Amino acid sequence: MGTKKLQIVDQNTGEIIENVQFTGGYHLIYTNTDDIGKLRHIRKLDNAKFGDKHWIKNWIYRPIANKLIRKFPELRHIKPNKILFIEDMEWEKPEGGKPKKHWMARINKTNKQFADMSGYEYILETRNYFIERMDRAQIIALIYHELRHIDQWGDLQPHDIEDWDNMIATLGKDWATTKAEIENLIDDDIIWRELEPRAKQLDVFGLKQFNNFAKGKENC
Ligand SMILES: [Zn+2]
Repeated sequence: MGTKKLQIVDQNTGEIIENVQFTGGYHLIYTNTDDIGKLRHIRKLDNAKFGDKHWIKNWIYRPIANKLIRKFPELRHIKPNKILFIEDMEWEKPEGGKPKKHWMARINKTNKQFADMSGYEYILETRNYFIERMDRAQIIALIYHELRHIDQWGDLQPHDIEDWDNMIATLGKDWATTKAEIENLIDDDIIWRELEPRAKQLDVFGLKQFNNFAKGKENC
């Protein structure tokens, strides 16, 4: 990843209007005056900090989603580039109190304004706390599970019993909570070799303690 230069030049006068150097990703929105001003996006922003405690992790989860969608007909209507994958890097399981189920991942629909500005219609949020404790097959199963919430019409459905039964039948009842060896749904090592060292690097940015944590909702 070298340094990049973004330059916007007025084609008529040659004037340089923007001149930016940067080393990370980018997301450009531009418009034309002759097509009713529609927002157009160039999105190459797959690994970046997002808000106080989240990290955009499209570069990790989108390839998994792509492979799952290619493999499973029940996911075929889903478009992974409409999903923003973010990970909460700071949430930790609270100590004490009564035992409670905490969500490991959840999916939400974005509102119209966010969708128009960002190009993303869904946000799939994971918690690094759990991801770090899962093996790759479990992470893939978790993503599969979250994608199953998106129905044929693009709406989100709460858990249906069949879906859960299906996960348990395929992967065993502890598919999401233990380090058990479970069958890898896509059986692909390549993404993972890439994942580990870089994921560790990113944790450097997530060291701050964070006390608040979002309450779990449906669709997790
Ligand atoms: Zn769910």
